[in-house]
Amino acid sequence: MLDNNEKKPLIIFEDVHKWYTPEFEVLKGIDYTIHKGEVNVIIGPSGSGKSTFIRTINALEEYQKGKITVDGIVLDHNIKHINAIRNKIGMVFQQFNLFPHLSVLHNVTLSPIWTLKQSKEEAETNALELLERVGVKDQALKFPNQLSGGQQQRVAIARSLAMKPQIMLFDEPTSALDPEMIKEVLDVMIELADRNMTLLVVTHELGFAKAVADTVIFFDEGKIIETASPDVFFSNPEKDRTKQFLSQIL
Ligand code: ADP
Ligand code: MG
Repeated sequence: MLDNNEKKPLIIFEDVHKWYTPEFEVLKGIDYTIHKGEVNVIIGPSGSGKSTFIRTINALEEYQKGKITVDGIVLDHNIKHINAIRNKIGMVFQQFNLFPHLSVLHNVTLSPIWTLKQSKEEAETNALELLERVGVKDQALKFPNQLSGGQQQRVAIARSLAMKPQIMLFDEPTSALDPEMIKEVLDVMIELADRNMTLLVVTHELGFAKAVADTVIFFDEGKIIETASPDVFFSNPEKDRTKQFLSQIL
């Protein structure tokens, strides 16, 4: 954790609203700042807008009102801004979304070669280092469908890291995994947190939130209801809605 005077804002939401249809407002005025090096964990009921919230950050969803700024760049309709922002962000989804027709190694080297203009040799050296870090280097020449879910998700993390992002977004990264594979993925995320990577994680894994979150964000009905350190959040939440939610899941 960084102390206050070193805090550097990385992502700033200012009164962000999003409508999927004119009648259906899904984000109802989000104000929030994510600082460099912080781990923020989002929890909240299904359908409360958690995925929409994090997908707006790399323009997978548009927003209609307010302002999002990422590392000093305003996220508007300018494709140069969108691309510059996307280059700063890695995203890992519930369904690993690996390219099925490419080997593990090729999945990880593709974007560094095409987008970062790395040589094949450089990209492969980096990729093998990252695959080793996430514990799947010995799977490098296999195809995604030859790997377990936990292994595939670790490849997906390595693939994101290969683009040297400033922040990693995780949307329920362990929800599609068999229980015995959840820990191996969470351990990789914990290692990222230990290295002071900025993380924004939607998860139901409360143990992860307690262990590594600087801040827990509770989402409900398109709003941030409460934010607190995990200590306070889980033992002494302020809002009734938070207490009610926690009483259902703890
Ligand atoms: P969460 O991740 O918290 O479960 P989501 O952000 O996925 O919530 O969804 C919030 C609400 O927006 C839900 O009611 C969902 O049905 C709706 N929604 C999500 N994606 C779309 C879409 N592409 N079109 C219309 N409604 C959507
Ligand atoms: Mg979701």
